[in-house]
Amino acid sequence: VEAMTSRNPDRPSFMTGSNSNPIGAKGAEDIPSRSVKRMSSPERWELKQLIASGVVDPADYPELNEDTDFSGNVETEEEIDVEVREEEPPFLKGQTKQTLDLSPVKVVKIPDGTMNRSALAGASLAKERRELRQQQQQQEMDAVPQDVNTPWLDPMAGPDGRQFAQDARGSAAGSRPDQVPEWKKATFNNATTFGKVTSLSIQEQRESLPTYKLRSSLIEAVRENQMLIVVGDTGSGKTTQMTQYLAEEGFANNGRIGCTQPRRVAAMSVAKRVAEEVGCRVGQEVGYTIRFEDCTSPETRIKYMTDGMLLRECLIDPEMSQYSVVILDEAHERTISTDVLFGLLKRAAKKRPDLKLVITSATLDADKFATYFNNCPIFTIPGRTYPVEVLYTKDPETDYLDAALITVMQIHLSEPPGDILLFLTGQEEIDTASEILFERMKALGNDVPELIILPVYSALPSEMQSRIFDPAPPGSRKVVIATNIAETSITIDGIYYVIDPGFVKQNKWDAKLGMDSLVVVPISQAAARQRAGRAGRTGPGKCYRLYTETAYRNEMLPNTIPEIQLLNLSMTVLTLKAMGINDLLHFDFMDPPPENNLIQALEQLYALQALDDEGLLTRLGRKMAEFPLDPQLSKMLIQSVDLGCSEEILTIVAMLTAQNVFYRPKEKQAQADQKKAKFHQPEGDHLTLLTVYNGWKGSKFSNAWCFDNYIQARSMKRAQDVRKQLLGIMDRYRHDIVSCGRNYTKVCRALVSGYFRNAAKKDPQEGYKTLLEGTPVYIHPSSALFNKGPEWVIYHEIVFTSKEYMREITAIDPKWLTEAAPTFFRIAD
Ligand code: ADP
Ligand code: MG
Repeated sequence: VEAMTSRNPDRPSFMTGSNSNPIGAKGAEDIPSRSVKRMSSPERWELKQLIASGVVDPADYPELNEDTDFSGNVETEEEIDVEVREEEPPFLKGQTKQTLDLSPVKVVKIPDGTMNRSALAGASLAKERRELRQQQQQQEMDAVPQDVNTPWLDPMAGPDGRQFAQDARGSAAGSRPDQVPEWKKATFNNATTFGKVTSLSIQEQRESLPTYKLRSSLIEAVRENQMLIVVGDTGSGKTTQMTQYLAEEGFANNGRIGCTQPRRVAAMSVAKRVAEEVGCRVGQEVGYTIRFEDCTSPETRIKYMTDGMLLRECLIDPEMSQYSVVILDEAHERTISTDVLFGLLKRAAKKRPDLKLVITSATLDADKFATYFNNCPIFTIPGRTYPVEVLYTKDPETDYLDAALITVMQIHLSEPPGDILLFLTGQEEIDTASEILFERMKALGNDVPELIILPVYSALPSEMQSRIFDPAPPGSRKVVIATNIAETSITIDGIYYVIDPGFVKQNKWDAKLGMDSLVVVPISQAAARQRAGRAGRTGPGKCYRLYTETAYRNEMLPNTIPEIQLLNLSMTVLTLKAMGINDLLHFDFMDPPPENNLIQALEQLYALQALDDEGLLTRLGRKMAEFPLDPQLSKMLIQSVDLGCSEEILTIVAMLTAQNVFYRPKEKQAQADQKKAKFHQPEGDHLTLLTVYNGWKGSKFSNAWCFDNYIQARSMKRAQDVRKQLLGIMDRYRHDIVSCGRNYTKVCRALVSGYFRNAAKKDPQEGYKTLLEGTPVYIHPSSALFNKGPEWVIYHEIVFTSKEYMREITAIDPKWLTEAAPTFFRIAD
């Protein structure tokens, strides 16, 4: 089978070389006669083109319409079957592997035995967590219609009617003694002694940091070298101080000082802190930029941002002309964006001798960085740590969450003063842990000292974020429950006790599902050391590892694997191609991604028609690169302009990004479901989301409307923000905003143009099978299409709970697949 060579890549896929092959493309013989016969009429084709470009209203040609029966089933004129083409893009021909089966080359070793079991135990708590979450949501709804502080965030919140449900209290009472972890001591780190605990003025705090004494030599080093690696323990002042020193010394007079962070929360919280130190409002001299939020102004001299945002800026301005200094902070985290920026900034520095690059790392892999950056010098900031006593569990824990919470209570009730830091994997887990802990503390009554519970994760509203830095009032203790953001990105003073269950949530390419997904994996030894180190910043500390010493030594990888070796690279490849970097196999990566990952990304972009037969960016691909979105979403958005439904797709993209739109409190499930059903659209969930947004818009974006309809106001506001941002980009690049009215078929086709890879077909036995890998998947019970059983669907994502569930599903006509991605699918014989 030969690839089709005469696709016209600039036109939307519906209008180009689909199976009817109207332009006499080579390879027509590949197309099964059935479909050729059905679609070969030139008039019919022309009409379809006109419809697709919005010139002709399909309503005028009912005989052409895709007879959607609006019960979730799309009826086609005849039974057809679609399969994945087993062919590769021409530009990859001969060079490489020939299949779509591109499993990641390096797989994180999931340790057998001990850790696995506890991971599973963690998963089994998911149900309990969800229920608790729902109960809490219910209470919020009962109490106040607006977004309110959750009780565990507000220790003052008394018995104000917001009672927690019975089983939460049940687990609160159940502190089972047989479950208390048994600890085994080990020694760790006989580091130097330094520092003291006091409440200092901001200036005094600045001067007490290890970087302060090195200020002049640090400035000197930056002056004398174009590139510099800075290594120092977390909390030494790299992130908050270096930018200020450089600005104070005039480095910001001819350009900004940029500083990247791998995480949104870190970028925001650090910018706020530095603005406070400088004495300005955030967004003035000191600002930040994260995706969908730009808090800078022309006055901004020090700009914190996510590495992803700097990467996007690089697309428009490869020489980074607005910056005089770029600090790539937290380089040890090795996110994809940081890794790509390594190469791009190295290039920029070559072109701009006046551009300074500083790369900081909290770990000791500095030599590798230095070698890569033209053998530049390494500046070391001596540590400021106390010894940390490390305790391992004697036996593997079967339930890390429970063990962690018991450990928190134990420390709180029996150890000397000092705050606690507990590492968990994500928001849901952290919220549940906070609630359970709150309940258990409440069950102990008023005779025990107060425990202030502070969750930290990226979606936390910013009012909450600043609270984590406030010292606990005398006589009380705080416990910070955080994702690995507290590993190195943000430093909280006063932590004496660290509890480390040994897991992290990692985004990773899932070959079976053909998409990135978040999985909980064991941390690396390097990460474990970082976590333990958090306990030794203010005084000698303790680290409780909820795994055995054997697991640490034998089952954890020495270092964290760079993301670039784990994740889907299609967005990265698209960005690089848009910068004119075509030869990706020879791009100056510090650690090149496995060739297979690159090829898979190229194949995906080719199928999306972002790349042409030579592997060069098409006009469509160039437009796609303008959006800070996954290529599937940006393809969808751009196709929707040609299809005449960009108004609708814009909203859908924003709603997909916002997530968690629906409230479903336990006691009012029936009412919530009833309300939700009113929004359901027969085509599926994407249009349901559209209907919700439009309903909210109709209510003039009212909170009361959200409350009445069991909709989360906060998610809706986020969707509105994202929509605004995207609209701005659409305007800037002159993409029309057009509405299709009630012609939802257009919307569905636009969805398919981006998400054809996520297609699934009903399985005669049970559930669905993905077209790509044949993986069994199911319709999520929350879907508008649950129990409707359409033959063909596309889905936005897979969530794994008890089964692999598809979420955000739309029923489709399978021939849209071959139209949308003729290089990817064909009609099966
Ligand atoms: P590094 O980058 O070397 O890890 P930072 O510059 O982030 O160190 O932190 C230096 C100090 O500033 C730490 O002691 C930390 O506690 C303090 N700090 C950072 N952010 C905040 C904040 N938002 N509020 C209060 N203190 C902060
Ligand atoms: Mg830092």
